[in-house]
Amino acid sequence: PETPLTVFLEKAAADFPDREAIYFMGKRISYSQLLQDVYRMARALEDLGVQKGDRISIMLPNCPQSVITYYAVLLLGGIVVQTNPMYKERELEHQLTDSGAETIICLDLVYTQVAKVKDRTPLKRIIVTSIKDYLPFPKNWLYPLKLKKDGIDPFIPESEDIHSFSGLLKKALPDPVISRVDSLDEIALLQYTGGTTGLAKGAMLTHRNIVVNVVQSGAWLHKGKRGKEKLLGIVPFFHVYGMTVVMNYAVYMAATMVLLPRFNVEDALKVIEREKPNFFPGAPTMYVALINHPDIRKYDLSSIQACLSGSAPLPLVVQEQFEKLTGGRLVEGYGLTESSPVTHANPVWGKRKHGSIGLPWPDTDCRIVDPGDGRELPAGEVGLLQVRGPQVMKGYWNRKEETDQVLKDGWLNTGDIGTMDEEGFFYIMDREKDMIIAGGFNIYPREVEEVLYDHSAIQEAAVVGVPDPYRGETVKAFLVVKPGYQLTEEEMNRYCREKLASYKVPRIYEFRDELPKTTVGKVLRRVLAEEEGKKAN
Ligand code: ATP
Repeated sequence: PETPLTVFLEKAAADFPDREAIYFMGKRISYSQLLQDVYRMARALEDLGVQKGDRISIMLPNCPQSVITYYAVLLLGGIVVQTNPMYKERELEHQLTDSGAETIICLDLVYTQVAKVKDRTPLKRIIVTSIKDYLPFPKNWLYPLKLKKDGIDPFIPESEDIHSFSGLLKKALPDPVISRVDSLDEIALLQYTGGTTGLAKGAMLTHRNIVVNVVQSGAWLHKGKRGKEKLLGIVPFFHVYGMTVVMNYAVYMAATMVLLPRFNVEDALKVIEREKPNFFPGAPTMYVALINHPDIRKYDLSSIQACLSGSAPLPLVVQEQFEKLTGGRLVEGYGLTESSPVTHANPVWGKRKHGSIGLPWPDTDCRIVDPGDGRELPAGEVGLLQVRGPQVMKGYWNRKEETDQVLKDGWLNTGDIGTMDEEGFFYIMDREKDMIIAGGFNIYPREVEEVLYDHSAIQEAAVVGVPDPYRGETVKAFLVVKPGYQLTEEEMNRYCREKLASYKVPRIYEFRDELPKTTVGKVLRRVLAEEEGKKAN
């Protein structure tokens, strides 16, 4: 397709002007309203001096403002820098400096944080908004702060370089703004990598990368009809997964996005029952949290027809239980920031395989190579997964060396170890970096975690390698026990010894109330491993 991303929005508004584009905490916004607000914001940004190629940081949770700003920036040929609203000063400073963003759109709640780093970064202007700008009811249950009715909160000084989002929108005209994008190969986003394994780098994703991944999603979910779908928008849009598979896919399908600004089990259950979304892209830990809610059976979740689980392995029990509860299909997919993100998924309606990430998406080449000499390996053998396709990034922003390490002749090295079966289904063992080598044996934490998840008393599990004077590394399991259950180390040891070869059995267990996670709910093994590393020193 040769259309920049914003064309999806213009088409949706032309074909389905009154169709609800966004549902947000009681507020409903149609496609024609959304497009008008995008034109207004584009004009306002341009008046402030934003030009083609400029990087604009969007530091917002899922809310109408994040969608409006995203498309407004793209319309101007600007580059969106998605910024996690939970970033602390250090992370924020790194991202703003690395990207060279001069403009940021942020929530009033994080304004102080942004203001603190302003002088240490290229930042020139701050546009502040409040969740309350879009709440239809006066009583604000989400925010403890007292906010002014419109405009900036009283504690934020309005000045030449600080602006109110709603003020800017009000002043600007809604007349069409012509897209400033000349080529689909222009950069649309600097999407910073999740940071699960360390330093966040900005993946340069072009208009083509995202457009293609959205169209691929459509081809894969072939049962969807334009103007009819309703998506649950829980995965954050500042993460590549929510941005492509929920926001852009919804706009492409002229679907309604039911937005939640953060993941909370009860809010999610209520909104599913009330708004009846039929497609729920999520992460395994979200499905785990939902199925373990004590009142889950009281809610009607039957509207859900399809769920795509990505970002981490999906345990089989979770898939089975969630499907039983909703009556819909939950399939596993796979992707990474560097590929916009999806490269594989099990078909929702066709043949799927448990434990597999599925088949490569249309137009996507995949191969398994020997980690040592890069030789392509035949089906059944284990090696590094590499992908090539129109959704693969241009490279990392200002990081040629790192780019050359992962991109060669169009092939992206995913850093994941996997295999392909005779039918072309792919499987991920684990990340190359997370593999544990204990006494010379290779152990994939994922395999051990799968066994732990099968235990009826375990809610969450994470396995990491910890330093061991004799075996080099040894296996340690962190466990969260389901409410009302109790477990002991001896019991776990007995259970694991029955299911795993002895070298894979965890030697140490630690019980916790919760595990550290990323914003898409991926368990941060790195944080656990670092804690262990510190203890050892
Ligand atoms: P960073 O790149 O900064 O270390 P990250 O790898 O978490 O962080 P993402 O791009 O969000 O950043 O995640 C991509 C990774 O997520 C993949 O490389 C893979 O390891 C993992 N992943 C995604 N989907 C699956 C899946 N279905 N099964 C197993 N792992 C998955």
